[in-house]
This record gives sequence, structure tokens and C-alpha cells, in this order.
Amino acid sequence: MPMYDLIIKGGTVIDPSQGINKVSDVAVSDGKIARIAASISVQEARRTVEVKGKIVTPGLIDLHTHVYHGVNANGVSADVGGVHAGVTTMVDAGSSGCDNYGGFPQHIIPNNKTEIVPFLHICRTGLNTTPDIFSRESIDLDRTIKTVVESNGVIRGIKARMVSPALEIFGMEMPRLAKRAAREAGVKLMVHIGDTEKRYDANVIRQLLPIMDEGDIITHLFTANPGGILDSRGKLVPEAKEANERGVWLDTAHGRGNFAFDVGAKVLDQGLVPHCISTDLTLPGRQRTVHSMTEMLTRFLALGFNLEQVIAMSTINPAKALGMEDRIGSLRTGCQADISVLDVKDGDWIVYDVIQGARKTDKAVVPVLTVKKGEVFEVGWGPRPWGWEPDQA
Ligand SMILES: [Zn+2]
Repeated sequence: MPMYDLIIKGGTVIDPSQGINKVSDVAVSDGKIARIAASISVQEARRTVEVKGKIVTPGLIDLHTHVYHGVNANGVSADVGGVHAGVTTMVDAGSSGCDNYGGFPQHIIPNNKTEIVPFLHICRTGLNTTPDIFSRESIDLDRTIKTVVESNGVIRGIKARMVSPALEIFGMEMPRLAKRAAREAGVKLMVHIGDTEKRYDANVIRQLLPIMDEGDIITHLFTANPGGILDSRGKLVPEAKEANERGVWLDTAHGRGNFAFDVGAKVLDQGLVPHCISTDLTLPGRQRTVHSMTEMLTRFLALGFNLEQVIAMSTINPAKALGMEDRIGSLRTGCQADISVLDVKDGDWIVYDVIQGARKTDKAVVPVLTVKKGEVFEVGWGPRPWGWEPDQA
């Protein structure tokens, strides 16, 4: 009788959570990681998938996406950007609020194989309207807290967006209400920085960062919009390093309007390093700017990070930011069998940010195969006419 359900055989296993980077086989049974070893006999498994020459990592975790497909105008179908794109877990970053969260447990979560971790928007209607917050009535603190508590652990965070007109209506009361909701409900706080309307005082970041505590998450770290972490002279605001030292998680969510290579280079030059890479995936973002989680990894290779670093930033780091590192983000024995098989393709690639800044790179990460809770998924064709690779330089 075979001992294992599945062996992923012959790939180079890179698991930063355990400091592993070597050719190994990974065995899975009962939806969990059973063993990693130099060679595990194919006789011992019901199914073996050969992945020689490929990279095997813990399942990629995308810390910022929008998957309220069929409800929000821009929501993408989770599995398209998830298990069919090399990603096993996606955080929905506030697509819904207390008025319209009900569709997640009813329609979205049970109809996708990708694990979805919803964060609830402090705006009661989530991202159903543009703008999201448009009056004092847009926030209902009590019902927001109640919705999180009654989700029984499904909702793991509160999301707030430092944008106009929310800031014009509420000022700093808005992120403070979000923080209060998060604390009272006992979940994470994620705050979007960068005013996409480009109207509000850029110095708002200096008031926001001091209210972020250890374990809270800043998203869009490399935004070029007002309210980012660089001042008008391109210097890091002092509160940014202080927040980092306090243990605030720094996420880079790309999206359609909040990622610039030049901002990233200046932030990195001044010694601040983000912890997490994410997409802010939406339907139009997938087509036009983001394309895929694996392309985000490519963009960070283009910024000078190495492969182990970008894998840590998309596996164990977001798992820890979510407080889920006991179950996901690692190939430790006993962890959920979430595995991404990736290919790193040599070539002359060029990648673009949201303001047409470009970087060249000779390595492009593309997805090959995904395992979620022990089940194997093929990847889709990819977001571009030719598949997953970026543009050729
Ligand atoms: Zn977003």
C-alpha cells in the first residue's frame, strides 16, 4: 500500500521558513506535508509529479487582492489569480463591508479552491461604490465589529484606505475607527496608503504611522501618490522606520495606481525593506498592470532581491502577517499541503510599474503547477496573449 497520496519529485525546494534550498522530493498525505527528503521512492505514492528543473515552494500567499467577483465591478474570480496562477491563499483586502459581507461565505469562499481570507472594509459597503466612503453614514462601527465577531474567525482583518473623500469627511478619525474595530474584534488592521485622488495633504502619513501598532499592516509601500512614505524631497519620513522597528508589517501591493520602481529604489536605498509582496489583483489590474503574483516576484528580482528573498516575501512573511504560520507559508511536516511549482525563465525581460517606469531583468518567474490541501491544479494560460512571461526587452 502506498504511504503517500502524492510526491512532487526532483524539483529544487526553496522554503525560507526552514532555510531549505536544495533538490528534494516532497511527499503529501491527507492534505498535509508528510516528508521532504533527497529521494522518496515513487512506489510509496499513489501519484508522482515530476518537476525536475523547477522550483518548489510553499504555496504563494497573496496578501492583497479583490475577489468579490460578480459583486464588485472589478472583482476577479479567485481561482483565476489563485490556484490556476500558482497562488494558494488570497487575502481579500476589504472588497466588502458589514452591509454586504454575506456573499463571501455564501458564494465566494465555497465556490473557489483557493483559500480566501477576507478582511472587512471599515466602509459598510466595502468597494461596492466609488468612492467607497462618501458620507458620515458610510461607517457603522458597531455592526462592523459584530460582523467580524459573528464570522467565527473567517474575517481576519479590518481594512481602511487613506484616500479622498474619506479623509476629507473623517480626517484621522477614519483610520482610528478602523483600528478600534480591529482591536475590539481581535483581528488585524490593514491600511492602504497613497491618495489615488491626489487631493489630500501628503503629510497625513506622519499622523497615520504612529497609530499603527506591532502586527498591523501598511499596504502600497511603494506608492507614488500623495501620502506615501517619502517626503517631497524623496526622504523617508522618520515615522516609517519607527513603525518598522515596532513590528508593523510592510506590504507592497501593486494594483493599478500604487507601485513605482523609483519610489521602491529610494525606499530601499534608505534602508527600509518591505516584508511582503502582493498584487492588489482586480479584473482590470490583471489585464493591464499587475498581470500575476509571479510577475510581482519578477519585479522584485528586477529591484535587486534574490529568489529566496522574494519567496520569503510571498510565503512565510505574509503567513506571519496573517498569524497563520502554523498552517500555511511553510513546507514543514504537518503543515497544510499548499505547494507552488514555479519556473524561473532566463531571457531579456522588461517589466513596468503603474507610471510606466521600467526595469530590465534576466529572470522571470512563471507558475507551473499548484497543490492546494493536497489537490493538484494546472495553471491557466496566463494573463497575456502569450501566457505568463513579461514583455521581452
Ligand atoms: Zn486594494
